[in-house]
Amino acid sequence: MDTSKRNVTHPDLSENALAVLRKRYLKKNERGEPIEEPIDMFRRVASNIAEAERLFPHPLGDGATETDRETRVAYWRVRFLELMTSRKFMPNSPTLMNAGRELQQLSACFVLPVEDSIDGIYDTLKHQAVIHKSGGGTGFGFSRLRPKNDFVKSTMGVSSGPVSFMAVFDSSTEHVKQGGTRRGANMGILRVDHPDIEEFITCKNDNDKVNNFNISVAITDAFMEAVEVDGDFDLVNPRNGEVARTIRARDLFAKIVEGAHRNGEPGVVFIDRINDHNPTPQCEIESTNPCSEAHLPAYDSCNLGSINLERFVGGDETGRPIVYWDSLADAVRVAVRFLDDVVEVNRYPLPEIEEMSKGNRRIGLGVMGFADVLIKLGLPYDSEEGIAFAEGVMKFVDDEAWEASRALAEERGVMPHFRGSLHEERGDRVRNATVTTIAPTGTISIIAGCSGGIEPLFAVAFTRHQAGMEMPDVNPEFVRVAKERGFFSEDLMNGVAKHGSVRDQNTFPDVPEDVRRVWVTAQDISPEFHVSMQAAFQKHTSMGISKTINLPHDAAPADVEDAYKLAYETGCKGIAVYRDGSRDAQVLSTGAMR
Ligand code: ADP
Repeated sequence: MDTSKRNVTHPDLSENALAVLRKRYLKKNERGEPIEEPIDMFRRVASNIAEAERLFPHPLGDGATETDRETRVAYWRVRFLELMTSRKFMPNSPTLMNAGRELQQLSACFVLPVEDSIDGIYDTLKHQAVIHKSGGGTGFGFSRLRPKNDFVKSTMGVSSGPVSFMAVFDSSTEHVKQGGTRRGANMGILRVDHPDIEEFITCKNDNDKVNNFNISVAITDAFMEAVEVDGDFDLVNPRNGEVARTIRARDLFAKIVEGAHRNGEPGVVFIDRINDHNPTPQCEIESTNPCSEAHLPAYDSCNLGSINLERFVGGDETGRPIVYWDSLADAVRVAVRFLDDVVEVNRYPLPEIEEMSKGNRRIGLGVMGFADVLIKLGLPYDSEEGIAFAEGVMKFVDDEAWEASRALAEERGVMPHFRGSLHEERGDRVRNATVTTIAPTGTISIIAGCSGGIEPLFAVAFTRHQAGMEMPDVNPEFVRVAKERGFFSEDLMNGVAKHGSVRDQNTFPDVPEDVRRVWVTAQDISPEFHVSMQAAFQKHTSMGISKTINLPHDAAPADVEDAYKLAYETGCKGIAVYRDGSRDAQVLSTGAMR
């Protein structure tokens, strides 16, 4: 066997990317040793997804020869491969891991129904396990469940309520390790008018329960109105539609805010707004996926993929940074085709999911590397220019994605659930119910070597503890700028690693002001700017946005309340805040962490 090929690692991947790929993505033998290189993985994925091209009619119709068909598949295989190896685009983790392998489960996100019956609950519990095993995340709306202590006719007993059943789903998650690669992630959602809402809001207070769940309150427009006018608000038993209790809306809102201030839970989703924008109103949306960017009806799934914007910024002849819009447009169109192909060759964990996913053909193309781009262009994240750029670039991506979906509809037909959709109402013949979503890109941004999703940098530098030593790990682009602008010194780099941020002029008088403005980190940015950035992206995104609204450690509950209200007022579809240091195990922390 010629083994020389096997030793080709992709030259363009960072050490971190290689480490992540080797640990979790590359095919392994029984001894746990990788038996493919990253380039083989990209080839495996490109070949597998391009096979979908064979399933659709060839443009030459019956006149197409076998060679014509093969050429077509080969063409798209090469286009898909180039997109990934150039790090311009990455599909979500399950696609990288499972495409062309036995599992062939390619989606990151699913939503499952929770019916108000023991049969329904335990069917869904089984389905959750099947999905987790295959590497997907699950979201649930628990609002149909009758409240705690409500009547159960068949046993003459009482119900244990949504929070107690959530614990069952949580415990099962704990015991089903995902395909050996990742532990399951869940979203649990309860409507704000459910009688058990207070118990739900506080169920994660002590960080010791339902740890495999993120929780969000589904807030209605009626509730926000009641908060606004300081009115009363009815909590309604979903079993019989009767009012269980009436509370003061502001008291309940204060409890939500208090929880979010304490440890970031619960988040909220504006459920009426989500349903107003639901392109398939025939299927109501009750929940989202775990990181809340995908708004899905029960049994729907979503395939995500993200464009690495950083790859589309370069210099003109004079060295001035510019965006390569044409090549961005081309990448978006190929990525949309890739994701529509994924819908086709995906192996769905349940027949119900296959039916819904192929009917709606929801895809979620997002962006990553956004903070890197702002830095290259010299635009601070917390500036009007930064926000205007965000809106412009996302509009561009979204418009191109819809154009691509229209072109696919011409070629392959509109989505099967077109009838009754908002698209039909508008006379817009598209192939996908949704085209854009902003995912967190937690792992794929590491593989692509760019900043995550649309988040600002977490730190310019941090202190890395390795082999018994403490070393500053500084963003390499910052080091380059520091050398070019003549303010580089070892001392300065150590200082930056200790603080994480360079914003403070008194601490870093040697760093030029424009550099301090542009190299802004999540903690330097006010919650208002975080929310405004989310709102700017939301304007041109079909589904939702995964973004954290960071608050300083000493922020007050009133600051959280302001952020929630601002998110509602500016058209966001939900919000999740994180107050610095408010959870014990903070994944990333700067040297300045308390
Ligand atoms: P990646 O970068 O690995 O593709 P993201 O961080 O963008 O993934 O997350 C996208 C979605 O994938 C999440 O919203 C969630 O639905 C799902 N997901 C992420 N991590 C997990 C996990 N550990 N288990 C199950 N699903 C997950």
